[in-house]
Amino acid sequence: MIAYGTLCLWWDHVSRATVLRAPTGDRFACPRCGGECRLYVNEESYLKMASRFELIGFAGHRELIAWVRGRCYRTRADAWAAYRSRALARG
Ligand SMILES: [Zn+2]
Repeated sequence: MIAYGTLCLWWDHVSRATVLRAPTGDRFACPRCGGECRLYVNEESYLKMASRFELIGFAGHRELIAWVRGRCYRTRADAWAAYRSRALARG
């Protein structure tokens, strides 16, 4: 099971999410920004879903999502900027 942010692009194994104890049942949050998370069945399906975004014009989306695991960015543009700057830094 994985958790993914609804307010950011963070996602990772659910064990890495912040647990919010509540009488109605535990909820999960991004450990970086505290934004609410939803659950998804597994990593493979999540990345498969990301691939589908490429079919509707989001080129490179799967690659971005795979890289962004464990990282918190508010927008795809922010994530792309960070991804590109790190790729450049590596040469
Ligand atoms: Zn976050």
